[in-house]
Amino acid sequence: MTREKRLYIATFGCQMNVSDSEKIAGRLQGIGYRATGEIADADLIILNTCSVRAKAEEKVYNYLNTLLGRKRKNPRLLLGVGGCVAQQEGKRLLEHVPHLDFVFGTHNLHLLPQPVQAAEEGRRGAEVDFIDTDTRLDLFPTDVAEGGVSRFVTVMQGCDNFCSYCIVPYVRGREISRRAGEVTEEIRRLADGGCREVTLLGQNVNSYGLKTPGEPDFTTLLKMVAAIPGIERIRFVTSHPKDISQPLIDSFAEIPKLCSHIHLPAQSGSDRVLTLMNRGYTRREYLSNVVALRAARPDIQITGDMIVGFPGETEEDFRQSLSLMDEIRYVDLFSFIYSVQPETKAAGLADESSRQEKQERLERLLSLQRQHTYERNSSFAGTMQEVLVEGVSRRGDQLFGRISGNRVVNFAAPVSLIGSLVTVKIVSAYQNSLQGTVSGGGAGGE
Ligand code: SAM
Ligand code: SF4
Repeated sequence: MTREKRLYIATFGCQMNVSDSEKIAGRLQGIGYRATGEIADADLIILNTCSVRAKAEEKVYNYLNTLLGRKRKNPRLLLGVGGCVAQQEGKRLLEHVPHLDFVFGTHNLHLLPQPVQAAEEGRRGAEVDFIDTDTRLDLFPTDVAEGGVSRFVTVMQGCDNFCSYCIVPYVRGREISRRAGEVTEEIRRLADGGCREVTLLGQNVNSYGLKTPGEPDFTTLLKMVAAIPGIERIRFVTSHPKDISQPLIDSFAEIPKLCSHIHLPAQSGSDRVLTLMNRGYTRREYLSNVVALRAARPDIQITGDMIVGFPGETEEDFRQSLSLMDEIRYVDLFSFIYSVQPETKAAGLADESSRQEKQERLERLLSLQRQHTYERNSSFAGTMQEVLVEGVSRRGDQLFGRISGNRVVNFAAPVSLIGSLVTVKIVSAYQNSLQGTVSGGGAGGE
């Protein structure tokens, strides 16, 4: 009998990568690898990387250096790198890191487990070719690992938008939609395994299906997913403000299973900067989308992304980002200091503000957002909320779940409720979470 081998995946970056890591784990189960959360137990370590943040390659090289000691102690330990940095660096990674065994790019998940098996036989290799749209079915391996109340499901790969600062179209390739039948089949299997909530993933879900003849659009896909027995909640990410359609807005009024949350990244509140970013909408258009969404679903919670220190951003431009935040009052905001990405259009723009100025702007933005988050969280105190119970809280003494508006709630309840929808009274609000008490089980759950 062959010994079960242990796989440790270090996932960097976005939800797309979390979903890819689940797929990697699923594909490697077939050749005897079981996922572990303990790096010390691993027979195989995979770094699933992201290039969006500053100095991404440097961080990956540093991480690989820290693994050299483990590899020396255990020469049978295998090391692999996947994701966007693997796509960008390709064979260079193998050349610069002699103790690395294999590299696979963002279009090569379907090739697993081949590179792992080759490495087990002592052969090193890098697979980073983009595959064309005709073979696109292979881009979306379906043998995902079972289990989990809330799961991510990839519906699209790549991006055609070419925002001037962003590396994604270069490292994830052009936009490709997955066939709706394949998406629903995967979700049906997840539901059979106990999944109750799915988050549909794509860089711009609003353009789902539009470039694939014969496939439904995103709003129709949402309705197809809502019809799957066992699925109680649907979320999606990310929605590009320039492509938000009236049917998508109407979905929030028409599909009760669609959660009261939308991630709608503005990136800046200044029209001048939005044009330089090639975002394709104005501040006014962004705001009118928010008004329409709130009309369709009055309790909808809005999160966003904001970049500070884009080349040429003035104090006045930055203040417009702050004033947009004041108008929207995001429940949460992911904010980034602009980082230069080679190949992108913005890399050629003059950037006069200093790192210190950018850091100061980021701190002002974070401080305003903390106020807004606390204010939004506090607005839930005293309300009754439907919560999908996801598991045991970090401290281990309570359960946790999320309200439809995507805020985490902790509450005392029996573990048998994991996987159910329960009604929770919110008794207090903190900066990062809510505290609740269960006042009745089974608000629609099983
Ligand atoms: N497709 C999504 C959209 O359009 O909103 C975003 C995907 S991107 C992986 C996630 C976030 O990273 C972006 O919304 C942006 O705020 C940030 N980001 C991307 N490139 C960046 C850069 N060069 N510098 C700083 N932040 C960046
Ligand atoms: Fe990047 Fe823009 Fe595509 Fe989002 S929409 S992934 S920010 S290019």
